Parts: sequence; structure tokens; C-alpha cells
Amino acid sequence: MKTRLKKTLQVGVLASVIIVVSIFTACNQDKNTQDHESMNMEKGQTNSAIVHEGMIDLMAIDKNKDGMVYQDMMDWNVISDEPGKCPLCKMTLTEVSIEKAKENLVKNNFKVKES
Ligand SMILES: [Zn+2]
Repeated sequence: MKTRLKKTLQVGVLASVIIVVSIFTACNQDKNTQDHESMNMEKGQTNSAIVHEGMIDLMAIDKNKDGMVYQDMMDWNVISDEPGKCPLCKMTLTEVSIEKAKENLVKNNFKVKES
């Protein structure tokens, strides 16, 4: 009786070890994928340049002075003068007027430089 119990325990321990190891491996694979993605992002450095911090100068962002900019509807401080995707959430930027972009920013407590 005792040896049988011991064997059951051993199988149980072995099973837990396998589970732990496979979870650990899965986590590691996740991390590798993320590392790979962030490496790719570093290559496209122009992308992170559209994430604006602190006082946001919309006039400076609107390089071609057409009064329109592309803004992320999730991360309001992600604004570009050209169509593109948000480097943070990968959403496609929406074309809005400077006034609208400013309104969105102010509404969401971002600081906008007065022109
Ligand atoms: Zn975003």
C-alpha cells in the first residue's frame, strides 16, 4: 500500500514539473516574440517620433501647413502629419483638423501649445 502511494506521489510531482516547465517555456517564447517586435520597432524610428510628450505643438506637427494632422483615437498624443499607425496600439491614425486634434487633446488633459 505504502509503495503504491509513493508511486502516485512521484507521478504527481513529475506531472507538476512538466506543467511548470511547459508554462515557463511558453512564457519565454512570449518574451522572445515581444523582444523581436520591439527590435523591429526600433528600426522604424520615425514611428516613435510621432508620440508627443508634454506640451504638444500642433503647428509644428503640421509640417505641410494644410491644417490637417493624423491622430490616434486611443492615444491622443500620437499625432503625425502623415498617415500611419500608432506605434503603441497599432491603430491606424485618423485624419482630423488641427482644431479637432487640439480639442481631443484638451478634452483628455494633454497640454497644447497655443498658437
Ligand atoms: Zn495608439
